[in-house]
Amino acid sequence: MVFLRLRSLATTWWQTGPLFAPPVPHRPGQARPGPGGAPVFLLAHGASAKHWRRTRLMLALGSVLLMLIASGWAVFFSLKGLWAIVALDLAMVATGAASLGMSRQGNLRNASLLLLGNLFVAVGAICVFLDVPSAQVPRATHHFYLSLGACAYLLFRGERALLRHGVALLFFAAFVVFASGEMAIVTPYALPDEVRTGGTWVNNILAALTLYLVLHVMQADVAARNALEDELRAAIDAQQLVLHYQPQIGSDGQVIGAEALVRWQHPQRGMVPPGEFIPLAEQTGLIVPLGAWVMREACAQLMRWSSDPRTAALTLAVNVSAQQFRLPDAVARVGAVLDHHGIDPRRLKIELTESMLHSDVEDTIDKMKALKALGVGFSLDDFGTGYSSLAYLKRLPLDQLKIDQSFVRDVLTDPNDAAIARTVVSLGQTLGLSVIAEGVETEGQRAFLAGIGCHAYQGYLFSRPLPIEAFDAFMRCPGESAPPARSGERPGA
Ligand code: C2E
Ligand code: MG
Ligand code: MG
Repeated sequence: MVFLRLRSLATTWWQTGPLFAPPVPHRPGQARPGPGGAPVFLLAHGASAKHWRRTRLMLALGSVLLMLIASGWAVFFSLKGLWAIVALDLAMVATGAASLGMSRQGNLRNASLLLLGNLFVAVGAICVFLDVPSAQVPRATHHFYLSLGACAYLLFRGERALLRHGVALLFFAAFVVFASGEMAIVTPYALPDEVRTGGTWVNNILAALTLYLVLHVMQADVAARNALEDELRAAIDAQQLVLHYQPQIGSDGQVIGAEALVRWQHPQRGMVPPGEFIPLAEQTGLIVPLGAWVMREACAQLMRWSSDPRTAALTLAVNVSAQQFRLPDAVARVGAVLDHHGIDPRRLKIELTESMLHSDVEDTIDKMKALKALGVGFSLDDFGTGYSSLAYLKRLPLDQLKIDQSFVRDVLTDPNDAAIARTVVSLGQTLGLSVIAEGVETEGQRAFLAGIGCHAYQGYLFSRPLPIEAFDAFMRCPGESAPPARSGERPGA
C-alpha cells in the first residue's frame, strides 16, 4: 500500500527545506498553532487559553525555583570548595534560565523538555552521589521524581502516548528505584548527615509544594472543561450555535458555492470560533448532536436558496467529523434531512478529512458510496496535512480535493508548498477530481494557483465566512464585499 505524505514527499523532491518540517495541522481535535504559533502541544486537546497561561506560569515558576535553589547550593558548595558540585549547580541555573526564556517566548514544549530532561538527570545524580541515605537521615531528593512525573503528565497530556505516558512513568520508575534501595555511590562528595537533616526538610517541603501546584492546575483544568462542556450542551438546545457561510469562487470570479462553518454565539464570550469548542465536542460525543444541527441548518439553507434563481445552483459544503460519519445510521440520518427539506442532494457536499482513512476505511467507503448514490458530493478537506493511502484514495467516491490553507499561505515563497499544491492539482487531474484551494488571501496566490490548474478558491481574498444576511448581500454584489467585514471571528480564528 502506498502512503502519501505530501509535505515530506515534496520536501524530498525539492531538497530545499529542512528534511522534516512539522505538519501544520489545524483541525479541531488535532494540534493547532496557538498564540504566537507556539503552544501547539498544549492546545491539541482543546486546552483552554487559561490552561496555557497556567502552564506557562508553572514552567516559569519551576525555572525560577530551579535557578534559586541551584544558586543557593552553588554558594554553599563553593564555600566548601566542592567545585564539581558547583559546576553542576551552575549548569542547573543555566538550564533554568534557558527554559524561562523559552516559556516567556511561548515555546512551552521545548521549555518542558529542557527543564524535565535536565531535572531528571540532576535529581538522579544528587540521589546517587550527594544524598546518600544513612541510618539516621533518610534520602529525600528522590521525592521530586513524584512531583516531576505529575508535571510531565500535565505538560505532555496533548502529546503522543509515548511522550504523554512514557516521560511520567520514567520519573515514577526512578522514584521507585531510589525509594526501594540505597542506590548510592559513596564518594568524598557525599553530604554529611548534619547538612542532609536540614536538606531533607527543605526537599520534602518543596516536593510536596510542587505536587500541590500540579494538582491545582489539573483540578482547575478539569473544572474549566466541565463548565465548558455543560455550557456547550446547553448551547445546542438554546440555539446559540450559528452557521456562517464562506463563498467558494470559480475561475471567472462567480460564486459557485459556500462552506458552512459553525460558530457559538456565547452570551458572555461573544462569537466563539469552532477551534475552541469542536475539539471538546469531539471528545465528549457532543459532536453528534452538534453535527446533526449543522446538517439540518445547512439543508434548511439549501432549501431557501433553491427558490431563488441567484442561489439555486450553489453547492453547500458541510464539515462532517469522523465520529459523526462512523455512526451506524450516518447515511440514514443525512438521507432523512435531505428528504425532510426536499432538496436536491447534489447541492450538498460533505467535507471529510484524511483522518477518516486511518481506520475502518471499508465502512467509510461503503457509506460514501451509499450517499453518493443519493447524489451527495464529497470533498477531502485539508488535503496534504495527513497521511493518505493512494490505494484508498483511488477507491473513495470523491468529487474534490481541497488544498489545505497551510500550503496556500506560503505557496509563493516556499518551494515545498508550491510543490505540494502542484502535486495535489495533478493528483486531482489523474483521479478525475476537481481541486479547490482554501485560505487564498492574495491575488498573487490566486494567480499562482490558476497557473498550476486550480480554478476554484475560498479565502479572505474574496470573503471571510459571513452571517447569512451578509452572504446574501455578497451574492447580490460580490465585488462590493471585498475586503469583507469579519464575521465575528477573533483574529487567528
Ligand atoms: P476548515 O473546514 O478547514 O475550514 C476552513 C477554515 O479556514 C475556517 O476556519 C475559515 O474561516 C478559515 N479560512 C477561510 N479562508 C481563510 C483565509 O483566507 N485565511 C485564513 N487564515 N483562514 C481562512 P473556522 O471557521 O475557524 O473553522 C475551523 C475549522 O473548524 C474548520 O476547518 C472545520 O474543520 C471546523 N469546523 C467548522 N465548522 C464545523 C462544523 O460544522 N462541523 C465540524 N465537524 N467541524 C467544523
Ligand atoms: Mg472544511
Ligand atoms: Mg480545511
